[in-house]
Amino acid sequence: MSGQTYDDNNIFAKILRGEIPCHKVYEDDDTLAFMDVMPQAPGHLLVVPKSQSRNLLDADPAALSKTIPVVQKLAKAAKEAFDADGIFIAQFNEPAAGQTVYHLHFHVIPRREGEPLRPHSGKMEDGDILKTNAEKIRAAL
Ligand code: AMP
Repeated sequence: MSGQTYDDNNIFAKILRGEIPCHKVYEDDDTLAFMDVMPQAPGHLLVVPKSQSRNLLDADPAALSKTIPVVQKLAKAAKEAFDADGIFIAQFNEPAAGQTVYHLHFHVIPRREGEPLRPHSGKMEDGDILKTNAEKIRAAL
């Protein structure tokens, strides 16, 4: 499964089509952002362009130009909402680099001094906590 084409049965395509739920943080014509269900830190969210690409390598630069300002907007909101010392942006391309969902997405992860990052795709978070955290970020937007 590496270096292949876009498969529209991936889980983020299903979220974009409304077939499965998410804890939404932000949406506009080109972009959706929602909470990561296995957060590496409180407030970990994902920014997902609505246009189809497997990852950064096959993305249309015009689509990226819509996505990155949203990554910035949500990084600022998450920093404020979680009183974070910093924000980690992560983005994985292909399995060898750690990618597990094959629709382009950017991780926005609040970081606090001395607080270790939890493992990537680790433990599922409680739905009520994700809901509360999504509300906190929305309130900071
Ligand atoms: P990666 O493709 O490795 O960049 O990571 C995919 C991310 O999606 C991981 O951090 C998962 O915890 C997260 N994830 C997987 N399924 C869902 C889902 N249904 N809703 C929200 N996040 C998800």
